[in-house]
Amino acid sequence: MATPETDAAARIEALRREIEHHTYRYYALDDPEISDAAFDSLMRELRELEALHPELIDPTSPTQRVGGYVGEQFAPVMHEQRMYSLDNAMDLDELDAWIDRVVDALGELPPLCCELKIDGSSIALTYENGTLLRAATRGDGTTGEDVTANMRTVKDVPLRLREGALSAITADRERIEVRGEVYMPKHSFEVLNLAAEADGKAPFANPRNAAAGSLRQKDPAVTAKRDLSTFLYAIADQQALTVSGQWELLEWLREAGFHVNPDVRLCTSREEVRAFCEASLQMRETLPYEIDGVVVKVNSFADQARFGFTSRAPRWAIAFKFPPEEKTTKLLGITVQVGRTGALTPVAELEPVVVAGSTVARATLHNEDEVHRKDVRIGDTVIVRKAGDVIPEVVGAVDSLRPAGAREWKMPAVCPSCGSPIIREEGEVACRCISIDCPAQAHERLLHWASRGAMDIEGIGEELVSYLVAAGMLSDVADYYNLTADVLAEVSRGRVNKAGENIRIGRTVAEKLVAAIEVSKGRPFANVLFGLGLRHVGKTTAEALVRRFRTMDDLMAASEEDLAAVEGIGPKVARSTWLFLHTPDNMAVIDRLRKAGVTMSEEVMAPGDEAPQTLDGLTFVLTGTLTASGMSRDEASARLKAMGAKVSGSVSKKTSFVVAGEAAGSKLAKAESLGVPVLDEDDLLRILDTGQLPEGK
Ligand code: AMP
Repeated sequence: MATPETDAAARIEALRREIEHHTYRYYALDDPEISDAAFDSLMRELRELEALHPELIDPTSPTQRVGGYVGEQFAPVMHEQRMYSLDNAMDLDELDAWIDRVVDALGELPPLCCELKIDGSSIALTYENGTLLRAATRGDGTTGEDVTANMRTVKDVPLRLREGALSAITADRERIEVRGEVYMPKHSFEVLNLAAEADGKAPFANPRNAAAGSLRQKDPAVTAKRDLSTFLYAIADQQALTVSGQWELLEWLREAGFHVNPDVRLCTSREEVRAFCEASLQMRETLPYEIDGVVVKVNSFADQARFGFTSRAPRWAIAFKFPPEEKTTKLLGITVQVGRTGALTPVAELEPVVVAGSTVARATLHNEDEVHRKDVRIGDTVIVRKAGDVIPEVVGAVDSLRPAGAREWKMPAVCPSCGSPIIREEGEVACRCISIDCPAQAHERLLHWASRGAMDIEGIGEELVSYLVAAGMLSDVADYYNLTADVLAEVSRGRVNKAGENIRIGRTVAEKLVAAIEVSKGRPFANVLFGLGLRHVGKTTAEALVRRFRTMDDLMAASEEDLAAVEGIGPKVARSTWLFLHTPDNMAVIDRLRKAGVTMSEEVMAPGDEAPQTLDGLTFVLTGTLTASGMSRDEASARLKAMGAKVSGSVSKKTSFVVAGEAAGSKLAKAESLGVPVLDEDDLLRILDTGQLPEGK
């Protein structure tokens, strides 16, 4: 007897079937029978009934696509059958060679199923008794990630298979796994990137990355908004269905409710295969989704089984890859970007053009030589290509379309960021701005100054530097010495707390920072020189310069030849060092550092004195922390070197002495095992004071 409950259950089931039918018409067949409004109305009725009868809610209901959070990590899924990649044919000749191999193996050309190669992300969907159980990514082919909650939100993925298709499933199979591609339509990709840009977020490089990224969202509600679609084209275990080939499989997938790409052809001759490839290439641009080639598959499953697989791909299929897509557009201008290390990169500003599915408005021109090699000029019609179909590049100009009077491009003489003169060293392709004051390079220079081999300022890191720069308190390294605890304590960390208040650095941290900055003033002169970040001047070169010149004044007074006469310094380093020290902005910063009290000379001895080279020929290794003297290892090392010793980072039989500070570790153990004499900190201080080795050592 019908009760209100059984009535509701029947109505709910009828509505679900009706909605599934229209979803199938809309997404899989692209042939809707009712209007969107009528569809929405059916959904609304179903939602309302389910709200009244929550006990009747079922995970396969069309209302249940969006579930809870995925959690921190996607669970791993071991694929029962490996998910293979495809071998590529880069041109029609390679495709022919593959067909030759097929003909050789089978004696004649078998029917070949040709499909579009969808440029998305592989997906495996498992159905249990006709209901979607799990969705997994390919991962490394053996283990993928469980993305079920996210794939449920993709509207063309059936939550249950259509009944008419179930009879083809082999009797004892409760589970069947189908495979295909999840992709983002070109239009949705554009919209997504526009929104990302408006939010100040990094755009996705291409629809493929956007699809993969959307699939790996922690919140399925986000994936649901991303407008992903699928095309299914494979079954993991061919024994699971009573179909005997690829063509029939595609038909079955369609019947079962999946979205199957309509552009498929069963070819029986090479010419047909070739024609399909060429037609697909023609079609590429107008398709609403990205394709990057054509997949040609031996159609019969029995024949496929004879070919088998290599370790990474089936032998019975080949991907004919399209050549990278090229477009022409106008070169509107060439701007110059300053990298963090001062290298200048010319960038082509283009009239926006869609290349391989995404809009390109800028492309790197790498360096000055490259601009001249390609001979591109402002106003030119240029050819733009996506290298590896991802990074846009300018191939060259269409000479015949060059506007009259277009002039050869020249690198500007001054840095576009700070106006300092630009230099280009011999033998280098990059032009550089070497001004210490250049804002584009500030961040990197500030971090380098505070780093361990340089001024070793504890507490200064990437994030802190960013917000001090943002707060306008740091622009060059001399600014560190103007920071006060009062001002620092109030600087925002760029984040807010739960109450929406700015999180500040705070008093305690600020005081510690100021103290650490103060300590840094006493670091050895070689550290200062290294910290200034002169090009080609690493720690060893800085030490060599200090040994020879001792003071900043002497160093600045040295000519290029004087510099080149220092052991280990060639003309190139001499040139860049001299240039650095004579750039007015740099001189001003050095002067401010000097006034702040930063070490500007070698401290061990008075200028002019040559330290007695009593440790000449000896090699020291320092390990552990020097606690008694408060000296850093760098300082100790500089002082030993000043007396003629070598200081090495690792212990060998050639090591003369290992100096072990507190908590010395493996180097001490190694010294003991090799029988290298070990000194303690007192021994070291005595050596540094007297220049003599302790007795008996
Ligand atoms: P690749 O990742 O470039 O080695 O290409 C192999 C991938 O192409 C496969 O793992 C599939 O995800 C994808 N693919 C796209 N369309 C098809 C198709 N029609 N048949 C087989 N694989 C395809």
